[in-house]
Amino acid sequence: MDLQSHIRNVQDFPKEGIGFKDITTLLKDGQAFRAAVDELSAPFAEQGISKVVGIESRGFVFGTVMAYNWNIGFVPVRKPGKLPADTLREEYELEYGTDSLEIHQDAIMAGEKVLIVDDLLATGGTAAATVKLVEKLGGDIAGIAFLIELAFLSGRKKLEGHRILSLIKYDAE
Ligand code: AMP
Repeated sequence: MDLQSHIRNVQDFPKEGIGFKDITTLLKDGQAFRAAVDELSAPFAEQGISKVVGIESRGFVFGTVMAYNWNIGFVPVRKPGKLPADTLREEYELEYGTDSLEIHQDAIMAGEKVLIVDDLLATGGTAAATVKLVEKLGGDIAGIAFLIELAFLSGRKKLEGHRILSLIKYDAE
Protein backbone atom coordinates (compact mmCIF):
# COMPACT_ATOMS: atom_id res chain seq x y z
CA MET A 1 0.00 0.00 0.00
CA ASP A 2 1.42 3.39 -1.05
CA LEU A 3 0.28 5.43 1.93
CA GLN A 4 1.98 8.63 0.77
CA SER A 5 -0.26 8.80 -2.30
CA HIS A 6 -3.22 9.16 0.08
CA ILE A 7 -1.84 12.30 1.76
CA ARG A 8 -3.00 15.63 0.34
CA ASN A 9 -0.55 18.54 0.47
CA VAL A 10 -2.33 21.85 1.02
CA GLN A 11 0.06 24.71 0.36
CA ASP A 12 -0.11 27.85 2.54
CA PHE A 13 -2.40 26.34 5.20
CA PRO A 14 -2.94 27.43 7.95
CA LYS A 15 -0.56 30.25 6.97
CA GLU A 16 1.73 31.19 4.12
CA GLY A 17 4.79 29.02 3.65
CA ILE A 18 3.36 25.92 5.38
CA GLY A 19 2.75 22.80 3.32
CA PHE A 20 -0.01 21.17 5.35
CA LYS A 21 -0.15 17.37 5.21
CA ASP A 22 -3.86 16.60 5.12
CA ILE A 23 -4.58 13.06 6.36
CA THR A 24 -8.36 13.21 5.79
CA THR A 25 -7.79 11.85 2.28
CA LEU A 26 -6.16 8.77 3.83
CA LEU A 27 -8.79 8.41 6.57
CA LYS A 28 -11.71 8.38 4.13
CA ASP A 29 -10.19 5.41 2.27
CA GLY A 30 -10.99 2.30 4.30
CA GLN A 31 -8.11 0.22 3.00
CA ALA A 32 -5.53 2.97 3.43
CA PHE A 33 -6.76 3.75 6.96
CA ARG A 34 -6.58 0.07 7.94
CA ALA A 35 -3.12 -0.32 6.38
CA ALA A 36 -1.85 2.75 8.25
CA VAL A 37 -3.16 1.47 11.62
CA ASP A 38 -1.74 -2.01 10.96
CA GLU A 39 1.69 -0.67 9.95
CA LEU A 40 1.84 1.66 12.96
CA SER A 41 0.97 -1.25 15.27
CA ALA A 42 2.96 -4.20 13.91
CA PRO A 43 6.46 -3.18 15.11
CA PHE A 44 5.17 -2.76 18.69
CA ALA A 45 2.80 -5.72 18.88
CA GLU A 46 5.10 -7.90 21.02
CA GLN A 47 6.41 -5.17 23.31
CA GLY A 48 4.02 -5.68 26.23
CA ILE A 49 2.54 -2.20 25.87
CA SER A 50 -0.29 -1.47 28.30
CA LYS A 51 -1.27 2.12 27.33
CA VAL A 52 -1.41 4.08 24.10
CA VAL A 53 -0.95 7.82 24.58
CA GLY A 54 -2.47 9.87 21.74
CA ILE A 55 -1.69 13.53 21.11
CA GLU A 56 -4.62 15.90 20.40
CA SER A 57 -6.27 15.65 18.07
CA ARG A 58 -5.15 13.56 15.10
CA GLY A 59 -3.15 11.28 17.38
CA PHE A 60 -6.52 10.24 18.83
CA VAL A 61 -7.69 8.88 15.46
CA PHE A 62 -4.87 6.33 15.19
CA GLY A 63 -4.13 5.81 18.88
CA THR A 64 -7.65 4.84 19.90
CA VAL A 65 -7.93 2.22 17.16
CA MET A 66 -4.53 0.76 18.10
CA ALA A 67 -5.47 0.57 21.78
CA TYR A 68 -8.83 -1.02 20.96
CA ASN A 69 -7.16 -3.65 18.76
CA TRP A 70 -4.66 -4.49 21.48
CA ASN A 71 -7.31 -4.57 24.20
CA ILE A 72 -5.45 -1.94 26.23
CA GLY A 73 -6.23 1.55 27.48
CA PHE A 74 -5.97 4.87 25.67
CA VAL A 75 -4.72 8.10 27.29
CA PRO A 76 -5.33 11.51 25.69
CA VAL A 77 -2.74 14.28 25.87
CA ARG A 78 -4.65 17.52 25.34
CA LYS A 79 -4.37 21.27 24.91
CA PRO A 80 -4.67 23.22 28.19
CA GLY A 81 -8.04 23.45 29.90
CA LYS A 82 -9.64 20.45 28.22
CA LEU A 83 -8.96 17.70 30.77
CA PRO A 84 -11.32 18.02 33.75
CA ALA A 85 -9.44 16.32 36.63
CA ASP A 86 -5.99 16.98 38.13
CA THR A 87 -3.38 17.39 35.39
CA LEU A 88 0.32 17.79 34.76
CA ARG A 89 1.29 20.48 32.26
CA GLU A 90 4.34 20.80 29.99
CA GLU A 91 5.22 23.93 28.03
CA TYR A 92 7.02 23.76 24.69
CA GLU A 93 8.40 26.20 22.14
CA LEU A 94 6.58 27.13 18.96
CA GLU A 95 7.98 29.14 16.06
CA TYR A 96 6.49 32.20 17.77
CA GLY A 97 5.86 31.82 21.48
CA THR A 98 4.96 28.74 23.50
CA ASP A 99 2.14 26.25 23.85
CA SER A 100 1.31 23.63 26.47
CA LEU A 101 -0.02 20.11 26.73
CA GLU A 102 -1.68 18.34 29.65
CA ILE A 103 -2.22 14.80 30.88
CA HIS A 104 -4.34 13.52 33.75
CA GLN A 105 -2.17 12.77 36.78
CA ASP A 106 -3.76 9.34 37.23
CA ALA A 107 -3.58 8.37 33.53
CA ILE A 108 -0.46 6.19 33.74
CA MET A 109 0.95 4.09 36.57
CA ALA A 110 4.69 4.13 37.28
CA GLY A 111 6.44 1.40 35.29
CA GLU A 112 3.68 0.99 32.70
CA LYS A 113 4.85 0.44 29.13
CA VAL A 114 3.54 3.19 26.89
CA LEU A 115 3.40 3.85 23.15
CA ILE A 116 3.01 7.51 22.10
CA VAL A 117 1.13 8.15 18.84
CA ASP A 118 0.63 11.23 16.67
CA ASP A 119 -0.12 11.83 13.02
CA LEU A 120 2.95 13.91 12.18
CA LEU A 121 6.45 14.67 13.44
CA ALA A 122 7.55 18.18 12.45
CA THR A 123 9.98 20.04 14.75
CA GLY A 124 9.40 17.51 17.52
CA GLY A 125 8.28 19.96 20.22
CA THR A 126 4.86 18.41 20.65
CA ALA A 127 6.15 14.86 20.95
CA ALA A 128 9.03 15.91 23.25
CA ALA A 129 6.56 17.61 25.61
CA THR A 130 4.46 14.43 25.61
CA VAL A 131 7.55 12.34 26.41
CA LYS A 132 8.19 14.58 29.44
CA LEU A 133 4.59 14.22 30.66
CA VAL A 134 4.72 10.42 30.38
CA GLU A 135 8.13 10.29 32.09
CA LYS A 136 6.91 12.52 34.95
CA LEU A 137 4.23 9.92 35.63
CA GLY A 138 6.86 7.17 35.61
CA GLY A 139 5.77 5.64 32.31
CA ASP A 140 8.25 3.49 30.39
CA ILE A 141 8.18 4.66 26.74
CA ALA A 142 8.41 1.71 24.34
CA GLY A 143 8.29 3.94 21.29
CA ILE A 144 6.81 6.91 19.46
CA ALA A 145 4.81 6.19 16.30
CA PHE A 146 3.95 8.74 13.59
CA LEU A 147 2.15 8.34 10.32
CA ILE A 148 4.22 11.14 8.75
CA GLU A 149 7.69 12.57 9.41
CA LEU A 150 8.88 15.89 7.97
CA ALA A 151 12.49 14.70 8.09
CA PHE A 152 13.89 18.05 6.89
CA LEU A 153 12.80 19.61 10.21
CA SER A 154 14.94 17.12 12.20
CA GLY A 155 12.33 16.56 14.89
CA ARG A 156 13.99 13.24 15.77
CA LYS A 157 16.81 15.15 17.46
CA LYS A 158 14.39 16.24 20.20
CA LEU A 159 13.42 12.59 20.78
CA GLU A 160 16.89 11.07 21.06
CA GLY A 161 17.11 7.79 22.93
CA HIS A 162 13.61 6.73 21.91
CA ARG A 163 12.52 4.22 19.31
CA ILE A 164 10.77 6.18 16.57
CA LEU A 165 8.58 4.81 13.80
CA SER A 166 7.32 6.88 10.87
CA LEU A 167 5.53 5.38 7.88
CA ILE A 168 5.81 8.27 5.42
CA LYS A 169 8.89 10.51 5.20
CA TYR A 170 9.20 13.85 3.40
CA ASP A 171 12.81 14.91 2.79
CA ALA A 172 11.87 18.35 1.50
CA GLU A 173 8.97 20.80 1.96
P1 AMP B 1 5.89 19.68 15.94
O1 AMP B 1 5.69 19.96 17.41
O2 AMP B 1 6.58 20.82 15.24
O3 AMP B 1 6.58 18.36 15.70
O4 AMP B 1 4.45 19.63 15.29
C1 AMP B 1 3.70 18.47 15.34
C2 AMP B 1 2.22 18.75 15.47
O5 AMP B 1 1.79 19.80 14.62
C3 AMP B 1 1.46 17.51 15.06
O6 AMP B 1 0.45 17.27 16.05
C4 AMP B 1 0.90 17.82 13.70
O7 AMP B 1 -0.45 17.40 13.63
C5 AMP B 1 1.00 19.33 13.53
N1 AMP B 1 1.71 19.73 12.28
C6 AMP B 1 2.91 20.38 12.22
N2 AMP B 1 3.27 20.63 10.95
C7 AMP B 1 2.30 20.13 10.17
C8 AMP B 1 2.11 20.03 8.75
N3 AMP B 1 3.00 20.53 7.86
N4 AMP B 1 1.00 19.41 8.30
C9 AMP B 1 0.09 18.88 9.17
N5 AMP B 1 0.21 18.95 10.51
C10 AMP B 1 1.31 19.55 11.02
